[in-house]
Amino acid sequence: MTRSERTVDVLIVGAGPAGLAAGAELAAAGAGRIEILEREQEAGGIPRHCHHGGFGGRLTRGGADGPAYARRSVAAAVDAGAGLRTGVTVTGWAGPRTVETTGPGGLERITAGAVVLATGARERPRSARLVPGSRPPGVHTTGELQQAVHLYGQRIGTRAVVIGDEPVSHAAVDTLRAAGVHVVAVVTDRPGTPFRVRQRTPLLTGATVTGLTGRTRLSGVSLRHDDGRTTTLRCDTVVFTGDFVPDHELARRGGITLDPGTRGPAYDAAYRTSRPGVFAVGNLLHAVERAGVAADEGRAVAVSVLHRLSGTDEPFGSGRPLVVDAPLRWVAPNLTGPGGARPIEDRFVLRTARRLSRPLLVVSQDGRELHRQRLLLPAVPGRPFHLTAAWLDRVDPHGAPVRITAL
Ligand SMILES: Cc1cc2nc3c(=O)[nH]c(=O)nc-3n(C[C@H](O)[C@H](O)[C@H](O)COP(=O)(O)OP(=O)(O)OC[C@H]3O[C@@H](n4cnc5c(N)ncnc54)[C@H](O)[C@@H]3O)c2cc1C
Repeated sequence: MTRSERTVDVLIVGAGPAGLAAGAELAAAGAGRIEILEREQEAGGIPRHCHHGGFGGRLTRGGADGPAYARRSVAAAVDAGAGLRTGVTVTGWAGPRTVETTGPGGLERITAGAVVLATGARERPRSARLVPGSRPPGVHTTGELQQAVHLYGQRIGTRAVVIGDEPVSHAAVDTLRAAGVHVVAVVTDRPGTPFRVRQRTPLLTGATVTGLTGRTRLSGVSLRHDDGRTTTLRCDTVVFTGDFVPDHELARRGGITLDPGTRGPAYDAAYRTSRPGVFAVGNLLHAVERAGVAADEGRAVAVSVLHRLSGTDEPFGSGRPLVVDAPLRWVAPNLTGPGGARPIEDRFVLRTARRLSRPLLVVSQDGRELHRQRLLLPAVPGRPFHLTAAWLDRVDPHGAPVRITAL
């Protein structure tokens, strides 16, 4: 089948908060023909199916529920003059800034002066978590659950177990309750008081899922507890929550360098990736932050894209990589530069693999200490904590990677 070919000034892949904010800002700045492509039939990204409050930021003046936030983000981009096409999936690359798409109008090849990847993140499904057992219906992630309940009005089940204890797990509990499902327990492999009650639901800590049972429908979740006991919770629904991974498939197919910690594109304070003229924003870079953070990055990338379009951007690759020592998992941005550029809010965001009580963060390069900073609160898995960028001007641009250690 032949592909039609077109050219635009800026192509944005993904119409979630990050991509829509980038489109709005670039269109308002008169950056030429801006096109945002979204594979779903409706634009807005994850907030479309988050029927709870807590979505804030400049657009909403004080907070909104997810669908209202999504509608306002879409309106801001379209009103500013960005072109928005839904039901169009970017499937691969045909050149450095040429993508291949498939959609209602057939196959296309679109070349852009700059490409912004804003493909977001997703929760790891059961298969990626290597949970053994049968494969019956009744197994979801929070995103799938919310879409089924809030977008498609589907029936879920009667008794559910929620796996994970991140903020998103609480959203899963709320969605199940809204759908009239009894939540049997929330289960996490993290250590802690073995049995507590949270959100009126038993919280089982130190418990690992060892299998799912049931043939035509899920009938139970088998657990192994830290003390060696094994149990099976009877349920017809299980929701695997959190454990987000960036939706990096397109970046990977383009040969864009990925950061080993975040597993999203490696990027600097200008949101540049290793491919010249290809930028990345939002949860693709750091799974996951709040929608307002993703939108702020979308707005911020506009400046870098404008530099690129006018030929005034610096070459990529002059920055030093930032690396973390375990139990820290990742830092973002994960490259210094360009030049003296500083990350948004003049700070880096980090994650840890295990709870750290008020850790001391030490930044060093070639054995030389650049900065030390005591956190005032514990660092907890699945939640962001921050490191000031005040030490950036002490980095040797020709030195070794910058190392961040938690003591
Ligand atoms: C259950 C849940 C509850 C949340 N609650 C809150 C909250 O209360 N407050 C808050 O601030 N944040 C909340 N968040 C986080 C918030 O939703 C995210 O931070 C935000 O959606 C990230 O925006 P994004 O644009 O980076 O990615 P997304 O919103 O994930 O958007 C990415 C878009 O890219 C599209 N896409 C991907 N690949 C392609 C492709 N190849 N071609 C075309 N399109 C593509 C996707 O379909 C998607 O629409 C919640 C998240 C979840 C999962």
